[in-house]
Amino acid sequence: MFEERPNRGAEVVFVGRSNVGKSTLMRELTGHDRFTTGKKPGVTREPNHFDWASEDFMFTDLPGFGFMSGVDERRREQIKTDIVRYVEDNADRILAGVLVVDGKSAVEIIDRHTNDEEIPHDVEMFYFLEELGIPAVVAVNKMDKVDDRDERLNELCDRLGLYPPWQQWTETIAPISAKRGNVEALKEALRHHFHEAKRDDLLKFVT
Ligand code: GDP
Repeated sequence: MFEERPNRGAEVVFVGRSNVGKSTLMRELTGHDRFTTGKKPGVTREPNHFDWASEDFMFTDLPGFGFMSGVDERRREQIKTDIVRYVEDNADRILAGVLVVDGKSAVEIIDRHTNDEEIPHDVEMFYFLEELGIPAVVAVNKMDKVDDRDERLNELCDRLGLYPPWQQWTETIAPISAKRGNVEALKEALRHHFHEAKRDDLLKFVT
């Protein structure tokens, strides 16, 4: 089970498969490194709460889901259950849920899992956030490695049930490159959702 959650009235949560660049993104957004609580280096099993600021707000990096080397199936299922429960329990306080994906491989992974007749984790998470009424933003990371940018992003929209072209969905689809420090599209999407939630007081966290 997850440890105690800091008592903050508003938060943005981050979910995604392992290795999509989530910790790189957290560092870029917050200027802080996470502390790794997992026993295995690099594998986080507890949420990382970035609650350094004095405002009643935090960013929360939830553990990576999907395949992780050295983590067995049962443990992975448990992590996913914990993530779902955390988001459900805190839905009222979550201003936005950021689903981080790897722009180069996301569509391929979704399609592979669809063929297995199961709902791919990424798609499931996206709908799950929407069902809870939490604005979902897909941070499509590693775009520096993607050549056919528009085509890739349109395919991703299609898999998420959003009509292409992707440019219609800038509040939802945010192409970024965390490693290059290019996260403006994500910040813009979050600014939109903060504003919609009448939380302009928190815009400084995403400018
Ligand atoms: P996490 O497991 O999701 O927390 O992923 P990490 O932040 O540890 O990143 C996984 C790998 O992807 C590392 O080698 C990063 O340097 C790399 N990475 C992260 N963001 C980007 C990006 O925007 N572009 C590229 N090309 N690599 C990235």
